[in-house]
Amino acid sequence: MKSSTIETYGDSRDHIINGRRVASTGDGSMPVINPTTEEKLGSVPIGTDADVDAAVAAAKAAFVNPEWRDMSVADRARILRNLADEFEAHTEEMVAAITLENGSVRTISEWGNVVAPAGIYRYYADLIESTPMEEYRPAPFGADGHSIVRNEPIGVVGMITAWNAPQGIFAEKVGPVLATGCTAVIKPAPETPYDAYLFMELAKRAGVPDGVFNMVFGGAETGRALVRHPDVVKVSFTGSPVAGRDIAANAGEMIKPVTLELGGKSAGIFLDDADLEEFLPWVGGACIAHAGQICALSTRLLIPRSRYSEVTDAVADTMKAMRIGDPLDPATELGPVVADRQRKRIEGYIEIGREEGAKIATGGGRPASMERGFFLEPTLFTEVDNNMRIAREEIFGPVLVAIPYDTEEEAIAIANDSEYGLGGTVYTTDVERGTDVARRVHTGSIGVNMYSQFYNAPFGGVKNSGFGRELGPEGMNAYWSKKSIYRAGPAPK
Ligand code: NAD
Repeated sequence: MKSSTIETYGDSRDHIINGRRVASTGDGSMPVINPTTEEKLGSVPIGTDADVDAAVAAAKAAFVNPEWRDMSVADRARILRNLADEFEAHTEEMVAAITLENGSVRTISEWGNVVAPAGIYRYYADLIESTPMEEYRPAPFGADGHSIVRNEPIGVVGMITAWNAPQGIFAEKVGPVLATGCTAVIKPAPETPYDAYLFMELAKRAGVPDGVFNMVFGGAETGRALVRHPDVVKVSFTGSPVAGRDIAANAGEMIKPVTLELGGKSAGIFLDDADLEEFLPWVGGACIAHAGQICALSTRLLIPRSRYSEVTDAVADTMKAMRIGDPLDPATELGPVVADRQRKRIEGYIEIGREEGAKIATGGGRPASMERGFFLEPTLFTEVDNNMRIAREEIFGPVLVAIPYDTEEEAIAIANDSEYGLGGTVYTTDVERGTDVARRVHTGSIGVNMYSQFYNAPFGGVKNSGFGRELGPEGMNAYWSKKSIYRAGPAPK
C-alpha cells in the first residue's frame, strides 16, 4: 500500500460512509495540530446531523445485509485476524500518524496503537470461535420445558473515542463489534483523525464489508447527535467524566445502554517493605507515561511517612532525568501534551497546587530546552494532603502528587477516598501482602508490582471512572442482546 496516511494529511472535507469518502453536508471544519511543532497538519469536517443520519443509515443497512448478517463465525474471526495482520504490516504509518497527531513517544504509539490492537483483534477472533451462540437450559425445579438462550448482536453501535491512545481505544470496541456481528458509526476524537482514516482503510483491506464501520468527524455536537440518533441502539464511550455524564443522560433519556470508560486519579501505594530500585522504573511506566495522559496511571503516590523523603527524592530525581523532546526521536521519554488548551489546564492545576500549599519537588514549568511544542516539565508535588484539589481531580498531564501515610489501613483508606476508581498499583516485596491490599482498593483494576492491561481480563471503572467493562469476554457481553426462546418438552441432548 502506498503511504496512505501521508496522503490523508492535509485538509479533508470527507467522512467515510458505506465504504466511500463522502463530503460533509456542512461547511464547519476543525484544525488538526501537531503538538510537537504547533504546526497545522490539516483539517477535518464537523459532521452535521445529516452526516450522522447518513452514516447511521449505512450502518443500519449493513446490519441486515446478508453478506454481514449471515457471515459465519469462522469468516468474522478471519476478518479479525486479517485486521491484526494489516495493523502489523502498516506499523510505521500508524506510528507516524499518531505521533504527529497526539505527540506520544514511539514506544507508546507503537505499543498502544499497533501491538495492543493486533493482540485484541486476535483475542476476539479466538474468543468468538469458542463461544457457543445458543445453549439449552432445562426448566428449573423439574418443570416441563426448556429455554434456548441465544446470543444476538445488539445492532448499530455509536462509538465515541478519545485521542490519547486512539487505536487502542478503537480496538476495545471494534473487536467485539466484529466478533458479534454488530455494525458501528465511529466519531473519533477531533485531535486524531488521520489514524482513524487509516483504520478505515485497514478494515477495508481486512475484508470488513462496506457499511459495517462508518466514520463521522466532529466534536461534542456531532457526538451528541450520534448518541441521540434513534437507530443507534448502544453507545460505547471513552473520554472525560464531563462528556460521559452528558452522554449517559442522553442515552438514559432514550433508554439505550451505554459503556463509559472515563477518567481516573488512581493510587500508587508504595508499601513500607517495597524495593525502591524496583519501583523507580514504574514512575515512567505506570505513573507518568505519555506525559501523564493515560487514564489508568497511578498519579497519586501514597508513601509511608517513615520513607517519605527517601522515596520522593528518588522519584524527583527520576522525573528530572527523563528525556523530554521530539517524540519521533527514539531516545525521547516524554513528549508534549496534546494541545495548548490542555497545557494551560495543567498549568492551572500546578498553580492550584502551589496555592494549596503543596511543595514542588521538581518541575512546575515549561522546559527551557523546547522552544516550540506544548511541552511541560514532569512535576512532582510533595507535602500533599488528599483533600487538596490536585489530589482529587484528574490533571491528565505529567504531574504526580505524593501523599504520606502512617499505616497500611490508612493507605487503603486514602486510596479509596476518591471520586474515581479506574486503576492503581501496589509496590511491595511480599506479593501476597500486596494482593491483599489490592483486593481492598475499590477500583476496576489494580496491579501488584506492575501495571499492564491483559486482553482477556475486563477493564473499566467504578464511581466517576465509569461503568461497563471492555476486554475479556465481559467486553463482548455488552454487544450481545441475549434472547430466551422458551419451549415445551425436554431440552435436546
Ligand atoms: P473528552 O470527553 O473531551 O472527548 C472524548 C470524545 O467525546 C471526543 O470524541 C469528543 O469529541 C466527544 N465528546 C465530548 N463531549 C461530548 C458530548 N457531550 N457528547 C458526545 N460526545 C462528546 O475527552 P478527551 O479530552 O478526548 O480525553 C481525555 C479523557 O478521557 C480523560 O478524562 C481520560 O482519563 C479519559 N480516558 C479514559 C480511558 C478509559 O479507558 N477509561 C481511556 C482514555 C482516556
